[in-house]
Amino acid sequence: MDTKNKKKTFSEQKQNLPGNEHKMNPEPEIIRENYVGSGKLLGKVAFITGGDSGIGRSAAVHFAREGADVAIVYLNEDKDALETKAMIEKEGRQCLIISGDLKDEKFCKAAIKKCQSHFKKINILVNNAAVQFPQKEFEKVTTAQLHKTFETNIYPYFYITKAALPLLNEGDTIINTSSVTAYRGSEHLVDYSSTKGAIVSFTRSLSTMLAKRKIRVNGVAPGPIWTPLIVASFDTLSDFGKDNPMERAGQPSEVGPAYVFLASEDSSYITGQFIHINGGELVNG
Ligand code: NAD
Ligand code: MG
Repeated sequence: MDTKNKKKTFSEQKQNLPGNEHKMNPEPEIIRENYVGSGKLLGKVAFITGGDSGIGRSAAVHFAREGADVAIVYLNEDKDALETKAMIEKEGRQCLIISGDLKDEKFCKAAIKKCQSHFKKINILVNNAAVQFPQKEFEKVTTAQLHKTFETNIYPYFYITKAALPLLNEGDTIINTSSVTAYRGSEHLVDYSSTKGAIVSFTRSLSTMLAKRKIRVNGVAPGPIWTPLIVASFDTLSDFGKDNPMERAGQPSEVGPAYVFLASEDSSYITGQFIHINGGELVNG
C-alpha cells in the first residue's frame, strides 16, 4: 500500500500533533542574524501561548532581543520549549516554560498565575497556540475534530485573556494570531479557518472595549510559514507557499518583527488591526 500519500485519519493526526521543531528539515529561521535589538521592550514581560516553536518561538526570541522576559505555554514539546528557553537566555533575558493543555480553563488560570508569581507582571499577551486538521471533504469534519479545533484555537483566547486582564495596565498590549485563511477562506480547513475568523472578530471587539483602558489589541494574519504545524498537518509539502505572488513560504523570522511592532510604543495609535504577512496575497481588512 502507498502509505506516503495515504490520508491520515483524525485519530492518527491527533496522535501526531503537535509537530516538533527540532525534527524539522530544513530548520526554520527564527530570527535573522542581522536583527539588531534596540531596547524597544526593555523591562517588559511577555506571555506567549504556543511559544515553544514556529511563530510563537520567533515572537519570543524577538521580544527577548528587544529586552523583554518571556513566559511560554506549550502542550508537550519539552525539547522545543527548552531550546526556546536557551535562545531567550542567550539574549540575556529570562524564560519561564509552562506545559499544559490550554483547552482547560483551570490550566489557563494557573499558567497566568505562574507567570505572575515568577515575573510579578505581564505587559504583552500573545494568544497564538492552534491546531489544524485538513480534510478534503466537508463531511469528513467530524464532531470530535470540530470541537477540538474550536476548543484549542479560540476558547483559550477568552480563558487566557480573562485571566491576564487584571494584570494589564495602560500601555500594555494583546496580540492575537489569526491567518490568511480567515480572510480568503480555505477549502480544506473549513473548521480551522472559521476559528481564525473568530479571532479577527475577537480582536476587533476586544480592541474597542479595551481602548478606554489604553490597552491595545491587534493581530497578525500569517500566510504560509515554515513551522511544525505545517509539517504535522500536511502530507505534501513540496508546493507549500508556492501559490502567492512571492512564490515561496515565509520563515518565522519574517513574522516575529511584526509582534515586536505591535507590542511596542511604535504602534501606539494602532488598535483592532491585523498585519498581513503572506507573501503578497491581497486580502480585505
Ligand atoms: P507551531 O506548531 O509551532 O505552534 C503551535 C503551538 O500551539 C504548538 O507548539 C503547541 O505547543 C501549541 N498548542 C497546540 N495545542 C495546544 C493545547 N491544547 N494546549 C497548549 N498548547 C497547544 O505552529 P505555528 O505555525 O507557529 O502556529 C502558530 C500560530 O500561527 C497558530 O495560531 C497558527 O494558526 C498560526 N498560523 C500559522 C501559519 C503557518 O503557515 N505556519 C499560517 C497562518 C496562521
Ligand atoms: Mg510546538
